[in-house]
Order: sequence, then C-alpha cells, then structure tokens
Amino acid sequence: MNYTRRGFRLKDWRLHLAGGIVLTVVWSRPLPAEPSSVRVFTATASATGTPRVVPAQTEPLPPTGAVIGIDWGVKETATTTSYAHDLPHAQHGHRSQAKLGHYDRMMARRRPKKGQAASKGYREAKKWRAKTCAKIARQHQDTARKWAKKVVRDHDAIAVEDFRPKFLAKTTMARKAADAAIGATKQALIEIGRKHARDVRLVHPAHTTMDCGSCGARTKHALPLSERTYTCTACGAFSPRDKNSARVMLVRAGLNPAGVEGARPPGALLQEAA
Ligand SMILES: [Zn+2]
Repeated sequence: MNYTRRGFRLKDWRLHLAGGIVLTVVWSRPLPAEPSSVRVFTATASATGTPRVVPAQTEPLPPTGAVIGIDWGVKETATTTSYAHDLPHAQHGHRSQAKLGHYDRMMARRRPKKGQAASKGYREAKKWRAKTCAKIARQHQDTARKWAKKVVRDHDAIAVEDFRPKFLAKTTMARKAADAAIGATKQALIEIGRKHARDVRLVHPAHTTMDCGSCGARTKHALPLSERTYTCTACGAFSPRDKNSARVMLVRAGLNPAGVEGARPPGALLQEAA
C-alpha cells in the first residue's frame, strides 16, 4: 500500500496511516529527510510477517520534452508510441512452464489421500513448485524494472493503459503468462515513474482498440484480433493496430501526440499510393 503526504503522519516514532492504522516502526537507519511517501508491505520472506515501512523519496530527473503512450498485449508486453521503447514478451514463464508442469504432475502422483498427512515427497514437490513460481516472478520484475527505468528516463509524461489482469481459470497459459508480465511491468512503471517525479497517467482501457489515434473517431465494431492494421474510415490514417492503441492512450490522457511515431498522417498514405 502506498501513502502520499496526506495519507500518513509520523508521530513519536510511530507511523499513523489513513484509516486510523498505527504502526510501530523498527528503524533500520535514521531518515535522511522527511519522507514524501511511505510504502507498507508484508514481506513474505520475513519469518514474522510484520509490515515494514520503506520511506520513498523522489529523485527528479531532467526534463526531456518527450511523452509516450503505452498499450499492453500478449506478444508484445508493451507497444508504445516510440519504436525504441517497445517491449517484447520475455518468455520467462514459457521456459519455466515445463518445470511447473513437471512439479504439478509430481504433486498429483504424491497427493495424500483424504485424511492422511502429506508425505515428505509431496511437500518437497510443492516447495520446488513454489520456488519455480517465485523465480518466474523475479525474472518478470527484473525485466520490468530495467524497461521502466529506460521509459521513465526518456519521457516527462507517460500515458499507460490501466490494465487489470483477469486470472480466470478459462484463460490459456500463454494469456496467464502475458498477464503476469503486464502486471509486473505496469507496477514497475508506476513505481519508478513516481520515484522520479514523472507524470504517469492511467487510462481506462475501454474502446482503446476501436478509436483512431489521429482523429479520435470510433469504429462501429471492435477490430477482430486477426486485423493487425488499424485503418481509420474517417480520416484515412493507418498504423499497426497496437501502435494505434498506444497513441490513443496519449490522446485519452490529454497529452499532445505531436512528434511521436506510431501513426501515419493521411498525407503519408496518399504519398505512398502515388
Ligand atoms: Zn482517424
């Protein structure tokens, strides 16, 4: 949980959070300055499970004069209005998927019968499976943070699809892996963006694939997934489907898309046709 200035107060070495929560803080070091925000999380690795408080300080970066729009997807975790910042889906889950399946089957074989205590073998398989899951999560976070740092360094304002993963049982493994990657990447972007005092704007995802990033017109029906190019019937602009969506994020966030790549003006279309 993140708390900004109005959400917390430090008094008598105790942390008072919005909602009447009071925490006793174990200080690992003296605070270098009054914290601008606090983050509270339960550390799963800690034996006690007691919350730890991490005071976050902003470290502003020099202005760049650039903005970026970001759309999330399965094949490309992030498609952006800048070709240099697109993020292909890292196949972390894919490589470890075989391992997970292996442990799943091992657990199924060793599963205790009703009323019986779990065998040592079952508990071991369960432990290995959890380790593999944690490893995948770490890899996602690592990739996400590296990418987010670059995006944040190169842009003043970031318009990003407020994607909410649906971990439904029905979804495919590929979809689940993609959702996990998107979740970690979005989280890293928001955290790192805030840390460096960048303007991160979350955009509601509805209709972003149906709108034109150039003129804002909306198609009457959703684009079928097989349709990789967005062609606007209103203004004639065309661009790769995901690039169009990334541009829609910028427009929806109220940022000026002038100068970003990703969509061709109708003039370019006519020139190419000529
Ligand atoms: Zn248009």
